Amino acid sequence: MSVDANKMYGAVEAGGTKFVCAVGAGKEIIELCRVPTTSPEETFDKVIQFFQSHRHNLCGLGVASFGPVDLNPESKAYGFITSTPKPGWAQTDLLGTLRRELGLPLAFDTDVNGSAVGEAAYGAAQNLQDFIYITVGTGIGGGVITNSHLVHGLVHTELGHIFLPKHPLDSYIGHCPYHGDKCFEGLACGPAVSERWGIEASDLSTEHKAWEIQAWYLGAALSSIICAYSPQRIILGGGVMDVPGLLEKVHKQTLAHLNGYVKHPDIQENINNYVVKPGLGEHAGVIGALELIRRKLESQGSSV
Ligand code: ZN
Repeated sequence: MSVDANKMYGAVEAGGTKFVCAVGAGKEIIELCRVPTTSPEETFDKVIQFFQSHRHNLCGLGVASFGPVDLNPESKAYGFITSTPKPGWAQTDLLGTLRRELGLPLAFDTDVNGSAVGEAAYGAAQNLQDFIYITVGTGIGGGVITNSHLVHGLVHTELGHIFLPKHPLDSYIGHCPYHGDKCFEGLACGPAVSERWGIEASDLSTEHKAWEIQAWYLGAALSSIICAYSPQRIILGGGVMDVPGLLEKVHKQTLAHLNGYVKHPDIQENINNYVVKPGLGEHAGVIGALELIRRKLESQGSSV
């Protein structure tokens, strides 16, 4: 392996169904393990065990987590997963636990911001200053990069909870515990697709009308996001986007919702290269977490 053993980093992509842990540098992953997300105690034990076996080789650890999370370093709850409806995980001190147990320099951000950083460095957004990474899976979230910087703002962006119009043929009550059938996640996350049709989304045939409605919602969301941020590209990741043909339906529906209003050849003539899948595939998050800590230590001029 060509990676310098003195410049290795750890990465955690903390998700609602699994924690992906890796050791590596750049886009090279030396070792990777997946820990199912059960109780915080059990999950942390396994994560810490993995990194302890590599502890002496690591310069730092990047953590990209599901949320909502507290990203304000001045806050008492910095590094906490805060108001998640996921049982047992509200007000969990993710970063503090890893710091206490591993004693490494840490970088922390949302899972989607981590993926955005990974895609900027090595994936489908290289050389772009303004783009958006969206994941459509168990939940929906988005990381926004403008002027080559992540948008954090007051808290962090929550693109999964922007309000959407309801499809005229859809009577589903929605999945979001906060917004029901009013928001993007409530209408279009993986569990919403399963509940709407009473069948696992992965068991729906690719010809099922479920995917036309799904694409309609995704097109509506992307249309709003394009109007709000004017990104140079949108990357669509997450398990739901693996459905064959869905991305092409989303291209059509995005153009239909925009209805010719935003005029640029990148959108009107080349939507296939404007709304794309992640260049790093399922590793965008964990490679992004490696990049988060590398950048942080570099910006501090640290050789820790
Ligand atoms: Zn919502």
